[in-house]
Amino acid sequence: APAPHRAPNPLLDRHRAVLPDWLALYYADPLELSHGEGRHVWDTAGNKYLDFFGGILTTMTAHALPEVTKAVGEQAARLIHSSTLYLNRPMVELAERIAALSGIPDARVFFTSSGTEANDTALLLATAHRGSNQVLAMRNSYHGRSFSTVGITGNRAWSPTGLSPLQTLYVHGGVRTRGPYARLTDAEFTAACVADLEDLIGQGRTPAALIAEPVQGVGGFTSPPDGLYAAFREVLDRHGVLWISDEVQTGWGRTGDHFWGWQAHDRNGPPDIVTFAKGIANGMSVGGVIARAELMNTIDANSISTFGGSPITMAAGLANLSHLLEHDLQGNARRVGGLLIERLRAVAAGVPAVREVRGRGLMIGIEIVRPGGDEPDPAATTAVLEAARAGGLLIGKGGGHHTSVLRIAPPLSLTVAEAEEGAAILGRALRAL
Ligand code: PMP
Repeated sequence: APAPHRAPNPLLDRHRAVLPDWLALYYADPLELSHGEGRHVWDTAGNKYLDFFGGILTTMTAHALPEVTKAVGEQAARLIHSSTLYLNRPMVELAERIAALSGIPDARVFFTSSGTEANDTALLLATAHRGSNQVLAMRNSYHGRSFSTVGITGNRAWSPTGLSPLQTLYVHGGVRTRGPYARLTDAEFTAACVADLEDLIGQGRTPAALIAEPVQGVGGFTSPPDGLYAAFREVLDRHGVLWISDEVQTGWGRTGDHFWGWQAHDRNGPPDIVTFAKGIANGMSVGGVIARAELMNTIDANSISTFGGSPITMAAGLANLSHLLEHDLQGNARRVGGLLIERLRAVAAGVPAVREVRGRGLMIGIEIVRPGGDEPDPAATTAVLEAARAGGLLIGKGGGHHTSVLRIAPPLSLTVAEAEEGAAILGRALRAL
């Protein structure tokens, strides 16, 4: 295929001159967005796009949601301040609501400014509680890019250093499209992964925790077979190892059937620690950690987060969460997500490069391979991303070492008509391969 035309773009030249080379940018001709409304965004040239990636899942409900805009504006006019040292009413209120929704008994919530920092805090709590810096993480995972979270990110393409302060042991169960596990049944795969976990722990090791995403996000929207995490949980409980669920992508009803991603996997009750971020405040930077008091209070040194829980982000979070619950956007994710996956399967049928269309709710992945095999095809994946953009649709990509999965995660208020429209655009992009 001819190389995509790169229009002169002075902002891109300035970006390249002053920002790190490794800061990810989509598209040969990168987009500069100007504004958004509902499920749409516009670029500075005036082109309109249907947004099926919600700004990497930050736009949880809708772009320019009036309640959030109003709450942020009012709080900004009153007081923009840090989060701690003084009593902070919006922080207390959002913590109360999240604690009640978490299902964790005697829950405490600590707010951060990002998902990375939330996972970092979870590691701090778990390692301090267990007196161990050994941590179990899943292969193909993504948990952030701080010095400790790169150590639990099993997705090498996103983990730029191996010099983490943690001793990480990677557990099978994250992905099995290729390699020795590819041809096993779900039951065989589960048994093999559980035996592997027993082996890892059984060699006199005392890991602090296992951290996992209920559906791997950056890793390509893949989830383990039903029952695998529940079986893991039994092993961990027996050894006193903590269970951390990273709900940065799966929380707040995105997966449709459940409010939290862990509920699809684990009938044994809530995890020891839950981390969240991304869409809770509809794009304002909010992350956080939920844990029972005994665990949260493991550390007793003074701690603050200057911005985590700041009144302006908490105001956004409260308005956004209220909207989400009052409009049953989890139910919408289930209904419209169910229809969208059907439509995508229909438009992808007969496209030899599509290996699988999979997902839960409004978290849908399309795996792209060289026709007729299992060989990932990052170039074709990028070509579909570009073609979708040319057709007026923004989507994402991911998928472990090979970036060969198209990722679809629209705002949870997606309508049926928008789902149909997006599937039609993506169908044309896939057939153009
Ligand atoms: N955990 C998961 C599952 C994520 O997808 C991400 C972000 N892609 C993070 C953690 C890190 O969040 P942040 O980028 O807000 O630091």
